[in-house]
Amino acid sequence: MTPRATRVLVLNSGSSSVKYQLLDMADSSRLAVGLVERIGEESSRLVHTPLVSGPGGKRERTGGIADHTAALEAVAAELAHDGLGLDSPELAAIGHRVVHGGLKFSAPTVVDDAVLAEIERLVPVAPLHNPANLTGIRTAQRLRPDLPQVAVFDTAFHTTMPEHAARYAIDTATADAHRIRRYGFHGTSHAYVSRRTAELLGKDPSEVNVIVLHLGNGASASAVEGGRCVDTSMGLTPLEGLVMGTRSGDIDPAVTFHLKRVAGMSVDEIDELLNKKSGLVGLCGDNDMREIRRRVEEGDERARLAFDVYIHRLKKYIGAYTAVLGRVDAVAFTAGVGENAAAVREAAVAGLENLGLAVDAERNTVRSDEPRVISPDGARVVVAVVPTDEELEIARQTFALVERTDDDASPALRTSIA
Ligand code: AMP
Repeated sequence: MTPRATRVLVLNSGSSSVKYQLLDMADSSRLAVGLVERIGEESSRLVHTPLVSGPGGKRERTGGIADHTAALEAVAAELAHDGLGLDSPELAAIGHRVVHGGLKFSAPTVVDDAVLAEIERLVPVAPLHNPANLTGIRTAQRLRPDLPQVAVFDTAFHTTMPEHAARYAIDTATADAHRIRRYGFHGTSHAYVSRRTAELLGKDPSEVNVIVLHLGNGASASAVEGGRCVDTSMGLTPLEGLVMGTRSGDIDPAVTFHLKRVAGMSVDEIDELLNKKSGLVGLCGDNDMREIRRRVEEGDERARLAFDVYIHRLKKYIGAYTAVLGRVDAVAFTAGVGENAAAVREAAVAGLENLGLAVDAERNTVRSDEPRVISPDGARVVVAVVPTDEELEIARQTFALVERTDDDASPALRTSIA
């Protein structure tokens, strides 16, 4: 008897890297995780960790990974070595993270030529990410042409934003001609964390309003009303919103004209300044919150200012999304900083007692990988730490779609282009 296909390979393809995880959706367990980096360089490297019992721990291989095809072939070889090969009948699908799905993709979608063409059409609004995501999909298609390839979009969760939240107040014809509007990113994380937060509260997602603070190297906030996103801090690109590791977040757009006219910078230089040399790194030279906290403890003034700017922006978004939602049931902190930096969580809600927000000092400093409440008992708003798991969410959405597609031959279900 052929085993039931319950495995999903999740691929997150960047311009010179591929992160991957193989999951078994029968019990949501991870079978292997890994990363290929510096693809095309002499120092290219694959780090593979099998998580099933068998041939042992982490393996590394360096050099000789010329392109994405070579990278995926190397990944396939490592998986085969562990008895988890891509030719296994247990592999149900490959789920791909795709950063920009525009307005058309409001749900995970089985990839066909029309879907590939649409992702390509969105390259002008995601020039760094969508080409790499496309390369990953095309390479995986070549490796397993018979297998469903599913695109899971970072923007999808935010397509429920009402028009008044998504529109920029600029000339409508110009905006429409160039598809300029707020799309939002990190959607897979916001979807996962808002649902897990509802579970933590013992409620159905449709019953709760949650502010999700995804604070990683990139950072974004979202207002989720009854399971649907109604506002988020990133916009046309991931540059808008919170202060991030290397991105400025919100600034007066006239800063860019000023940099061009007065400082004589080119558009590419300004792009690089705001995306790569701003945020925490621009303010104090470090983008790692651990290092910033260490410097703050030592009395470093620049690190202190960077921390304060970061927290001030975060507070403004908590206040704004409280106003957007009207009633807030929970605020959930997630991602590298949100899950680990107790000082950030404490500072972000300090002084917001009038909004019903507080953290319990002891609960806030407990270290755990589990979702947990850090507000005092009886607080009006539950403050929680909810570790994100974007790969599990991509695998879950991918598997749900292919299972559904298997059950129903209707072509309408094969893609969910709105
Ligand atoms: P992410 O993008 O979600 O992987 O988050 C990466 C960021 O998380 C790093 O740049 C650090 O700033 C932050 N981070 C990771 N661990 C800690 C920690 N223990 N304390 C404070 N910040 C942390």
